[in-house]
This record gives sequence, C-alpha cells and structure tokens, in this order.
Amino acid sequence: MTEQQERVRARQEIGRLVAAGVHGAALTWVDNAGLTRVKAVPTARLADVVSDGVGMSPVFDVYLVDDSMTSSGEIGGPDGDLRLFPDLTRLTLLAAQPGWAWAPVDRYDQRGAPHPVCQRQFARRMAERARQRGLELRMGFETEWVVTRADSRELSYPTTGPAYGMARIVELSDYLAGLLEALHAQHVEVLQLHPEYAPGQFEVSVAPAGPVAAADLSVLVRETVRAVSGRHGLAAAFGPVVEPGVVGNGGHLHLSLWQRDRNLCQGGDGPYGMTATCEAFLAGVLRELPALLAVGAPSPASYLRLVPSRWAGAFQCWGLENREAALRFISGPPQAPQAANAEVKCFDAAANPYLAVGAVIAAGLAGVDAGLRLPAPVAGDPAGSAEPPPRLPDSLGAALRHFEESAVLREALGDPLWDSVAAVRRAECELFDGAAPEAVAAATRRRY
Ligand code: GLU
Ligand code: MG
Repeated sequence: MTEQQERVRARQEIGRLVAAGVHGAALTWVDNAGLTRVKAVPTARLADVVSDGVGMSPVFDVYLVDDSMTSSGEIGGPDGDLRLFPDLTRLTLLAAQPGWAWAPVDRYDQRGAPHPVCQRQFARRMAERARQRGLELRMGFETEWVVTRADSRELSYPTTGPAYGMARIVELSDYLAGLLEALHAQHVEVLQLHPEYAPGQFEVSVAPAGPVAAADLSVLVRETVRAVSGRHGLAAAFGPVVEPGVVGNGGHLHLSLWQRDRNLCQGGDGPYGMTATCEAFLAGVLRELPALLAVGAPSPASYLRLVPSRWAGAFQCWGLENREAALRFISGPPQAPQAANAEVKCFDAAANPYLAVGAVIAAGLAGVDAGLRLPAPVAGDPAGSAEPPPRLPDSLGAALRHFEESAVLREALGDPLWDSVAAVRRAECELFDGAAPEAVAAATRRRY
C-alpha cells in the first residue's frame, strides 16, 4: 500500500473505532525475553502513527524477564530510537477491555529501514523464504495457563476440579464462557478449550494461520485470557512452571506444510503418509531442536518444565501421536487427512512466538535443502526405554551453547538479532544462577 492509501485506510479505521467507543490502541511487540511490550496511542492519532510510527527505545531488545537490562554487540544503553508501525490488517477491538483496540507492530529505524532485531519481520522473512521454495506454512500455538485468585499472593486456585475434569468447567462456568465470548467477538476461531493437568490449568487452541498471523494470534489470545481473568477477579500465569515439580505450561507449536492446496504432511510415500518434503522439513526441525530450545524454551524456568514424563517433550525424537516426543506427528483422522500436522511440544509460553515460528521455518527449510530423512519414530515414554533417544538440553545454559553453535539459526536470524537473543539468554542464566527452583518459578510465572 502507498502511504496515501495507508492514511485513507487509517482514517476509515479511526471512524470504525470511534463509532465503537474505542479511545486507545495498544500497539504491541514481543521482546527477546518473551514479554509483550506496548505503546498506546489515542484513537485519533492512528492516522499519523501509520505514516510516522511511534517512538520506542531499541534497548528493550536486551530487557530481561525482571525488567533489568543487559547489552549486546549493537544494542544497549539509553541512546537511539525506533519507530513502531502498527499492522492495521490485524486491528482488533478488545472485547474484554472496552474502550481499547490492539494491533501488533513492525519496528523500523529512524530512516525507515527495517530494524534488524525486529522479531516480527524475521518471522515474515522466513515465511517468504519458504514461499520462494513454493512452500506455505500453516501454524498455530496452543495457549496453556494456570488460573489463580488475583487477590492472593500465595497460589490459590479458584477451582479444585480434577485434571481434564468437567467440574472445573462447572466451577468456572462464567469465566470460561466470558473467554469464549471475547475470543468470538474478536473473530478468533477457537478449536478447543479444556481443563489441563496441573491445578487450575486450562488450554485454548485456535485455528491455524500463516506464520506471522499465528504469532499475532498467540499474543492476542494470551492478552484476552489475561483481560478476561482480571474481570473475574482472577490472574492467569503463563510462565513455564507455576509450581516446581508440577506439570508446567507448554506453548506447543503446530505446523503443516502446504504446496498450493495440498497438505504435504499427508498423501506421500514417507512415514505415516508424509511426503519427502515434509519428512525433510521435520528432520531439519528435529536436528536443530537442541539449539531451537534457546528460542522456544528461553527461560531458566523452561527447564523446570522440560523434564521427562510430563508430556513436555524432553527427548530429541519424534513419534506418531507420542506426547513424550519433542516432535509429535499427528496423521489426522481418515476422514480429514488435510488435518495432518506436526507439533513442536518442547516449546513453552515464555517463547517469543515470532522468533519461534521463524526459527522453526529456518530449521525446517535447512532440512529440505539437505534432503534429510527422519530417524525411526519412537513409541511410548522414552524415559522408560532401555536405549532412550538423546535427552534435550536440561538447562538454558546448555541450550544456549547449541544455539551459539547453530550455523542455521545464526544465518537465519542475522547477527544483530542472533547476538541480542544470545545476550538475553546469557544474562537470564546469570540472573538465576544458583537460585532455588521455587524462586525461579515465583519470579517468572506471572511475567509472561
Ligand atoms: N502441559 C504440558 C506441557 O508442559 C502439555 C500437556 C499437553 O500435552 O497438552 O507442555
Ligand atoms: Mg495441552
């Protein structure tokens, strides 16, 4: 769109927002630590913002989970400014925050060049890289969270129903109906909502979308859960672990690979019907998982979640519908073969979703380029096997070493982004060095 067309569109949107009683637009992006940061503008300013952007410091690229900051080769200190440009195609009236709208932003420098650390543009670059090979990805994040009473500093759960129990839906009927109502009003297509395993834990999953849209949706869904929780006197914790020693919050990423209208995860001669391209893509993801963890399981808290026998996917293996495999292949029911997809299970809710989708695409395409094949699938819990597959890194420090050695991720991210991600990981390792699991969980569970 030309600048003129953008302004016309922005004016139309302003009219729509004013008519709907919207006073402000929350413009968000997600930092390397996985926290969603925001600048808000009054509705009437949106037309100017679309052409000139909103200022924000680049230092947020090296912010940590506790709002302290580190520095990388290029980023750090009080100087400099970026311009945030909202993507109005995603502009959404926030149903649980009357008076507010939301849009994600892309970040540019003062001269209008893409900011090399902009995670959303990284995701778009990787989607474009796939498109150049004739491939499209459809992706979707699952959102898991633990709901607690907002007025209690201790963990106090508003439901005592069992794992996956109907009792939880009965006890929190208004809250959960409010969540479905808000998501529906925001045109988010919900696939499932269910109580999960841990105390007070729930999950919502949404229909697949393109990579950038899937990451945008993950932000929107999370903030909607947060807002609806607040309206019901509740607080949602998205951190990888809420209580150490208990099942944590995953941020599983589903993906399928498409060529025009054909799902390459089915109808081929490879394992469970996948095509050679799909097999090579998944083999690329599987190969890169130890390094990908520094993107998808980015907090020291992530490794309190990522332990065997908790359905978190702690082993570097794949399997058909195996919930203990880090990469779970889902062939889909015979009547819906188009539903075949793979799920990266080892990722959690501390991940920046834009980095996660982009890094997974980069790893998968490297597998396609190398014509990789998958090893034999694993059935059952590898923890109980005589010859278990390799264990994924069991600490952020170990994952960071793989990340630093991954030529695939370094090339894809580009040095400024790669370097700032590594700096944040290193600094969070130091921040929590020697801390007890309870302290790590308490410091992170409500931050994301
Ligand atoms: N909450 C589990 C995790 O940490 C996942 C449970 C499931 O398979 O949905 O990833
Ligand atoms: Mg789940």
